[in-house]
Amino acid sequence: MGARMPAAAPLVTRFAPSPNGHLHLGHALSAIVAHDLAKAGEGRFLLRIEDIDGPRSRPELADEFRRDLEWLGLEWEEVPAQSTRLASYAVAAEALKARGLLYPCTCTRKQIEAAGAIEGSDGLIYPGTCKHRAADPALPAAWRLDAEKALAATGPLVWEDALAGPQAVDLSGLGDVVIVRKDLPASYHLAVTLDDAADGVTLVTRGADLFAASHVHRTLQALLGLPEPRWHHHPLLMDADGQKLAKRRGSPALAERRAAGENGQMLAEQLRLQHLRLGT
Ligand code: GLU
Ligand code: ZN
Repeated sequence: MGARMPAAAPLVTRFAPSPNGHLHLGHALSAIVAHDLAKAGEGRFLLRIEDIDGPRSRPELADEFRRDLEWLGLEWEEVPAQSTRLASYAVAAEALKARGLLYPCTCTRKQIEAAGAIEGSDGLIYPGTCKHRAADPALPAAWRLDAEKALAATGPLVWEDALAGPQAVDLSGLGDVVIVRKDLPASYHLAVTLDDAADGVTLVTRGADLFAASHVHRTLQALLGLPEPRWHHHPLLMDADGQKLAKRRGSPALAERRAAGENGQMLAEQLRLQHLRLGT
């Protein structure tokens, strides 16, 4: 008998779709990557419905998503949807506010554009208009992370992407992101960070389009004392002319292909091969 190996942390991955549109091929690849990594590591693969997009959320799509995943031949464990977790988001948001790490922002999208905001890695970088002014209490306010204060509070941080390697946290690509929306006690960034921790996710897998967001999530983990997962951002599927596949460019919904009688498991196999060619 050899020396006793320390027990490795159980591998937990997840697929976290938002029910504000049908799933397409890019989603299928994300789900397959997360599923296959979990299976290969004898871990768990979770499904979490991220249904807090206000009026854009259509909860009835969650059932369609489950049928899509089944059609692709995947098996999963479902964890509670985001809409059931709003109270825990509010608690975390209040803790960040109490430490002065968030500031209220009453700007509208139009005002942000008019203030000459520059394009960051995921949309406009907030120009900081509200950072140094008292918010008008009569106006609805979102709460933004003060990136400067956050960085001072955490000190230098690093996170690990399975493909790209260690990444020094740099919040400049996204700026002062919204942590609490005007209409909700959270934003995508806060909700996903808290949920991944609550669900015990150890490997966050998703498309490379969300790479920049991981800098924010690592920061929130450090600020909130949450465990640090690893990340795996997979390359995105491109269509024939090198554009990111997206619904708006007419990539057919999985549900449509399923209804047309296509074999989902064969499609999953094709996506696995395409993924290998992309460089996992
Ligand atoms: N709910 C997000 C989306 O559908 C994905 C969340 C994530 O993987 O971090 O875009
Ligand atoms: Zn503002």
